[in-house]
Amino acid sequence: MSSYKDTEDYIWYLNGAGGTRKRHLGMPPFERNEDGEIELAPGEVYCRFSNEDGDLCYKTDAFSSESNLKTYIKKHKINGNPARIKGKRQGANNIDDMNVACKFYAKLREIVEKGDEEESAEPMPTPSKRPAPAEAAPRQDRRPSLPL
Ligand SMILES: [Zn+2]
Repeated sequence: MSSYKDTEDYIWYLNGAGGTRKRHLGMPPFERNEDGEIELAPGEVYCRFSNEDGDLCYKTDAFSSESNLKTYIKKHKINGNPARIKGKRQGANNIDDMNVACKFYAKLREIVEKGDEEESAEPMPTPSKRPAPAEAAPRQDRRPSLPL
């Protein structure tokens, strides 16, 4: 039985930008449900966590599996609490999941490729920038300074 993993869109996603296995530029951040839980599509291997400044996670490398990605995402914080991921749906990898995944990767590709077009229309394309890993910095600003 074929799966979403055989689709052109998923292969495009998995290969990453220029086949480097790095996250495509212009990907949208993870969606969150009303409980603030991150919703992952089946087969996701790139972190799309949005930092407080609105930039996506500095880590652009593909994870070797969806479960490794999940373990990593939980290290992110949302309002000071570890990020939570929506629990696996019942009947994982059923037909509905396949449909969801197929649509998800097609949509993602559409968004990224549309963004590419808009960028190339600009007279001065900005070089690919690598945002600083701000999330790893210690949050000393929240600690009140002791009077000496
Ligand atoms: Zn991340």
